[in-house]
Amino acid sequence: MMSTNSRLQRLRRGLADKNVDAFFVSQPENRCYLSGFDGSAGYLLITQEKAVLATDFRYLEQADRQAPGYEVFRITNKIAEWFPKLIGDLNIRKLGFEAENITFALHQQMKDALDKQVKTGLVPLHSLVESLRTVKEPGEMERIKKAAAIGDAAYEHVKDIIKPGVTERQVAWEIEKCLREGGSQAVPFEIIVTAGPNAALPHARPSGRIIQAGEPIVIDMGARFDGYASDLTRTICLGKPDDKFKKVYGIVLEAQLAAISAIVEGMSGHEADNIARTVIGKAGYGETFGHGLGHGIGLATHEAPRLGPASADILTQGMVFTVEPGIYLPGWGGVRIEDLTTIKNGKLEVVSQAHKEKYD
Ligand code: ZN
Ligand code: ZN
Repeated sequence: MMSTNSRLQRLRRGLADKNVDAFFVSQPENRCYLSGFDGSAGYLLITQEKAVLATDFRYLEQADRQAPGYEVFRITNKIAEWFPKLIGDLNIRKLGFEAENITFALHQQMKDALDKQVKTGLVPLHSLVESLRTVKEPGEMERIKKAAAIGDAAYEHVKDIIKPGVTERQVAWEIEKCLREGGSQAVPFEIIVTAGPNAALPHARPSGRIIQAGEPIVIDMGARFDGYASDLTRTICLGKPDDKFKKVYGIVLEAQLAAISAIVEGMSGHEADNIARTVIGKAGYGETFGHGLGHGIGLATHEAPRLGPASADILTQGMVFTVEPGIYLPGWGGVRIEDLTTIKNGKLEVVSQAHKEKYD
């Protein structure tokens, strides 16, 4: 397990900057990142002096074991019963909460509980822990590399056995088996295997459609190792690809390689996205690249930073994110090529090693 001390230290500096006395963490990955506790329910309460992990009786022992730096506090599913007690004697005047995660209903319950018993104001905070999570520590990087290697191996295996006549679902299941047998925890997202016209939908579910020679096949999958996810997409064609496939594939590959070689430390998510978007736009397919170039990855499959037309995120040393341009043509299919990358010594290092076809 990784030490959470330095993470808490950095968070506490952020809380002081935001002028709050305490922070209530409800987002599951943030809870795990700050405490080491990976149970599926609970909250953290962080002050400058204290760190409390509040969870229900199912997880008390696990909490003690995984989060030794935390005081464990038992909760029930009635927030009014325990919430005032949790913060009652800590003299908290301003309590930060995760605005992107707390539901309206929970916010009302928290507010009601506080109004009755203690004088504490609730302050919405944004992306405090998410921004800490963007830069990976060496231990996190190791886990991500392991997850990527499991994904690479599953892809190589399936590429060798996929043939015309099998269904998208059969291929997806074969990949899932391979990932799990290769050491993945439950896969981080539903595996995508789409062929022909189905591949025009970037996130379609694998169907019973029979895969045929000559059509684009988009395979998008990831593994999870010790909590950390990977994400990989390859597009292939069985048999002889026609000119249209070769052309579209060539443009996406060129856009992806251009982005990989030109992204440098200090660039914004918008500038990075624009490198690939320019290549695809110049080839006349600008309208068909409807999603962003990439996303950060770690405990969550999609996390900060974002690489897209509207992203002001600055890409810095140690961040891990995908580079995945695509072209989608309704009725025909699509091509997406995705690699996992990290910024090292100012430049992009490609983490995923799965073979990338060249069709020319
Ligand atoms: Zn993906
Ligand atoms: Zn992705």
